[in-house]
Amino acid sequence: MTASAEKFTHQTLLDVQPLTPSLFTLRTTRDPGFRFRAGQFARLGVTKADGSTVWRAYSMVSSPYDEFLEFFSIVVPGGEFTSELSRLEVGDTLLVERQAIGYLTLDRFIDGRDLWLLSTGTGVAPFLSILQDFEVWEKFERIILVYSVREARELAYRELIAGLAQRDYLEEHAHKLQFIATVTREQHPGTLSGRITTLIESGELERAAGVALTAEHSRVMLCGNPQMIDDTRKLLKQRDMNLSLTRRPGQVAVENYW
Ligand SMILES: Cc1cc2nc3c(=O)[nH]c(=O)nc-3n(C[C@H](O)[C@H](O)[C@H](O)COP(=O)(O)OP(=O)(O)OC[C@H]3O[C@@H](n4cnc5c(N)ncnc54)[C@H](O)[C@@H]3O)c2cc1C
Repeated sequence: MTASAEKFTHQTLLDVQPLTPSLFTLRTTRDPGFRFRAGQFARLGVTKADGSTVWRAYSMVSSPYDEFLEFFSIVVPGGEFTSELSRLEVGDTLLVERQAIGYLTLDRFIDGRDLWLLSTGTGVAPFLSILQDFEVWEKFERIILVYSVREARELAYRELIAGLAQRDYLEEHAHKLQFIATVTREQHPGTLSGRITTLIESGELERAAGVALTAEHSRVMLCGNPQMIDDTRKLLKQRDMNLSLTRRPGQVAVENYW
């Protein structure tokens, strides 16, 4: 098979940054023909020592306009893919499937005033891509990014998030963003403590955001831990907020990471 007929391209690792022993970010070159919508994911492949290739889904952190691709990864102890991925160095090759996929995209919602982006761990990745794309800033009056981690040191991309307000093209919209970090296993200044579900049930999340979660005005994206997603969906259902489907537009869109 010729390279152009293959379902994937070979990209080169430009940068690898460890955040904690089990979290790191990586940047690769981008094939000029690779297109995606903010919030989508691609399947990445690494070739093992025995010559076989392992594939896993990864959300793009970078915006659809960046010339590079950026990803944010966990290292699962003994994990087939991440054990290989975390060994890669600058200059090494990563395979990227040509076709980006996924429905955690703004076109899931036909209306809404406030956009809630609820994430656990590496599940913040697609939201960073969405926030770096202009569409969301025009479409919503408020954007509430909620990022839940176990320990404060796991909060990645704090500079990127803080820097959004300084981007020229966002100047008049920057006030729309509210960033709420929550840490579950320790107390940390400037963050809430506790799980997203607990904070919704107690009303603390809405108090911190200064706005209520309602079916009329809120649109909610959930990404990361499947248990968080299941439990949050149940809480939202009690408020008449349901999954948004093509045949029945709703208020909720989700992406389970495992
Ligand atoms: C649509 C989609 C997008 C994804 N995007 C990302 C991403 O941007 N970044 C990322 O790190 N992973 C992402 N994942 C998860 C990723 O595909 C792999 O599961 C992960 O790289 C681990 O692969 P592995 O072979 O090492 O372990 P696996 O055998 O695949 O997983 C082993 C176990 O590790 C845990 N686990 C897997 N992924 C995570 C995670 N991200 N955070 C915490 N625990 C996890 C689960 O308990 C899982 O059962 C995504 C998954 C899906 C379905």
